[in-house]
This record gives sequence, structure tokens and C-alpha cells, in this order.
Amino acid sequence: MSRARPHPLRELLRVKPGSRIRLADVDPNETHGRDKETAARTLQKGLDRLTDLQDRLWAEQKHPVLIVLQGIDAAGKDGSVRHVMTAFNPMGCSVTSFKVPTLIELAHDYLWRVHQRTPGKGEIAIFNRSHYEDVLVVRVHDIVPKQVWSKRYDEINAFEELLTSSGTTILKFFLWIDRDEQKARFQDRLDDPAKRWKFRLGDLDERKLWDSYVAADEEVLRRCSTDAAPWYVIPANKKWFRNLAIAEILADTLEDLDPQYPPSTEDLTGVVVE
Ligand code: ADP
Repeated sequence: MSRARPHPLRELLRVKPGSRIRLADVDPNETHGRDKETAARTLQKGLDRLTDLQDRLWAEQKHPVLIVLQGIDAAGKDGSVRHVMTAFNPMGCSVTSFKVPTLIELAHDYLWRVHQRTPGKGEIAIFNRSHYEDVLVVRVHDIVPKQVWSKRYDEINAFEELLTSSGTTILKFFLWIDRDEQKARFQDRLDDPAKRWKFRLGDLDERKLWDSYVAADEEVLRRCSTDAAPWYVIPANKKWFRNLAIAEILADTLEDLDPQYPPSTEDLTGVVVE
């Protein structure tokens, strides 16, 4: 018996431009009909597609691709990089983790450090945190006045439009877990010696600001999801679904670019390798 192909996650999880999304309405345990038993096989198929597509993308040297990962602490940004991006040849792929800005970075506008890390043709750049921190942590902690950060949504849209109109494909993934899941993951970090280094006491202070972060996240999703640079809200309590969703959306998007191996630039007819 054949089963209908499930509805593409690219459509289900995309934030429609101008939508009034409320994260409370998004179930972080949602799996959209995908099941855990077959997840490993489905993920592997997605990763195989990604490997092939990135190989072509890199060979073709035509399309830059930017992947933005955001999410509250312990939402799974690092894990997504590790599990999904293993499909890529490190050549032609970069990962940048954006931290508290340095003095030099602070001496420039907030997009300066970001623009330097955007992908060139054929490259995939992954941002683990991004320019969105400048309307998230910066807003929650009043690092700059409201009149400064409130202009940044339009500035960010304009910046991303500059990138997309110059040929860059942008995908933005917001990883959505709930408070209980964050608690469990923090506890796990405390208990597991291999994960302890990831835990900081300050994480508990940030956790107290959960509602402020959610409000800031919602504003980003409402104002900065555009047709050219969409946000996807990934239900991320279940890591297997998170990985599968990111891999599927990425592969479907890269497939649309239809990257092709370029022909040789020289005439090779009749060439024999002695
Ligand atoms: P991560 O949590 O990403 O694994 P860290 O524990 O080093 O790595 O945290 C990086 C910190 O840098 C985060 O708390 C993040 O909010 C902060 N950060 C990133 N960008 C900015 C920014 N533009 N302004 C202030 N803080 C920022």
C-alpha cells in the first residue's frame, strides 16, 4: 500500500510574511506526521541529497547560500550544525558563531561583522546566532536604547534584501523548545561531564527572562520573514524531528537552485590520459 507523500515541511513551517505568529500556538513537540521509527532513514536520505547538492553548488560557483540559526539557549543550534551540516564538504562551507561583540566590532555598525561572513558564490555560510542578536539579547537587556534597536528590523530587512537581490539564497531557522525542555537540557549539561563546559551560571539568569525573549523572538518572526528570506519555526523538542526538518527544507531549497556541474572550459575532445 502506498502512502501519500507528507506535506512539505517547507510550506508547513514557513512564517508567512506579515503573519501575527504567536509561539504559544506552536507545539514544540509537533512532528507533522513524521515518525521516529523511520526518521533515521528519512534523515539519511535528506543528508545524501544535501551532499550531492552541495557538491554541485560548490562546483558551479554560482549561488551563495546563507543559513541562519537562532533559538533560545539549549534550543539545539550547535546540534543542528553537527547533525545536518555533516552532509557538506567543509570546503565551500563555513560556520560562524556570533558572540558578544568585541571592542573592534562595537566600534562599527552592528552589521559590519556579519557582512564579512556572508557567503560568496558557491559557498554555504552558516550563522550560529547572527545579526538577529541585535534585536534579541540587545533588546531584552536594553544594551542600546529602544529608539536604536527598534529601527533595526527595517535595517535588517534592507540588508537581507541587498544580499538576496545580489543572488544569495537565505534560509532562517528558529528552533523552538519549551521551558520544560530547556530545563531538562540544562540539567543534562550539569550532570554530564562532557557537556558541563556548555553550562554557565548566567544561563539561569537568562532563563528567568524567558517571556521577554519570546516577545522579542515573535517580533523578529513577524517583521523579518520575507518571501526572499523566510523564517522557519522548527518544533525542536524532539531532536530527530528538528534535524529531519532542517535537512528537508534545506534540500528542497537547494534543489530549486538546480546546481549543475559546469562543463570544462577547455576542448577535451580526443584527449587521452597516457
Ligand atoms: P552559545 O550560547 O552561542 O553557544 P556563548 O555561551 O559564548 O555561545 O554565548 C554567546 C553569547 O553572545 C550569547 O549570550 C549571545 O546572546 C551573545 N551575543 C551574541 N551576539 C551579541 C550581540 N550582538 N550583542 C550582545 N551579545 C551578543
